[in-house]
Amino acid sequence: MTTSASLLSITQVSKSYGSTVALHPTDIRIERGEFVTLLGPSGCGKSTLLRIVCGVTPASAGSIVLDGQRIETLPPERRDIAMVFQSYALFPHMSVRKNLGFGLRMKRVEAAEQERRIAHAVEICNLGALLERSPRQLSGGQQQRVALARALVMQPALLLFDEPLSNLDAKLRESLRDELVRLHRATGSTSLYVTHDQAEAMAMSDRVMVMNSGRIVETGTPVQLYRRPRHIFTASFLGQTNLLRVAIAEGVATLPWGECCRVDGLASGTRNAQVSLRPEDIALTPDAQGPGWITGRSFAGASANYTLQVGDVALRASHAGATALLPVGERVALTTLAIPLHALEGPSP
Ligand code: ADP
Repeated sequence: MTTSASLLSITQVSKSYGSTVALHPTDIRIERGEFVTLLGPSGCGKSTLLRIVCGVTPASAGSIVLDGQRIETLPPERRDIAMVFQSYALFPHMSVRKNLGFGLRMKRVEAAEQERRIAHAVEICNLGALLERSPRQLSGGQQQRVALARALVMQPALLLFDEPLSNLDAKLRESLRDELVRLHRATGSTSLYVTHDQAEAMAMSDRVMVMNSGRIVETGTPVQLYRRPRHIFTASFLGQTNLLRVAIAEGVATLPWGECCRVDGLASGTRNAQVSLRPEDIALTPDAQGPGWITGRSFAGASANYTLQVGDVALRASHAGATALLPVGERVALTTLAIPLHALEGPSP
């Protein structure tokens, strides 16, 4: 038994392939009902971690406790976990109905209970019309809904998702993403989701764990990570930002355009720091004496996006709801809208 009430506790789990460290010693806690995402670039170790939890890859070290039970030495089928893959992994020679029932038959779930669970999954995943089809008669989005239903009928303690939307086109990806979150809430399941797509992670998750080079660099809600990142990697991987190296005096930074701004999270005596300033946190006003000038602009509907130059520093600014654009070459004054700033840790990208 574990002393922790978390549904999933991963402690000091690591993985090496020869001299390649795919995953440095890692700790994770996931609470019941949470939707948690592992987010990071290709090769950062997300799938390795997911595969260790599901049991298809053995960890080099560490312990995994699911719902009070040590599971790291159990084979995948004895873990109370179901996984949804990028490739759908449906059985091609079985109808949708047979695909949905396969795991239940393997687990010798009673026939009436099988029927009940399949009927429920068919209803919530909207698969009624497709039950007698074979997977090759389905679109990618339909196949992924079947794969999800096949996982849900198992009523696992934990659902794992390995980039399940990557093979779908952009529009379908967005609608299935909303669908997945709705189903997660409706079924009260606990989900661990892997993606390299920061927009997907922010839209779906209760918490995001940002990974880089085999480590979790930062964990937080999407809003925390986007608005108040602590790590340079998080600031630059989630959305766009301006990373600025600033001089500090008594906890106050001087920004490249001369504005002074309080900075949190500084070690005492710090003389310079890196901070992140989102494009939407820089206000621009036309000013013939201003320290900046506009070097480029584009209209993106919801916002007007600018590149500008202040001395030798290049910046991006973005204004929501713009009805007219500032011209290239215009001199501007700059004002920070995000105060205080926060000192970032980690190496520059
Ligand atoms: P991600 O899912 O974030 O793209 P992976 O977990 O697949 O990353 O891989 C993490 C690292 O481990 C990469 O450097 C990858 O090349 C390496 N790796 C993964 N699987 C193996 C394997 N079977 N043998 C050797 N190296 C591997």
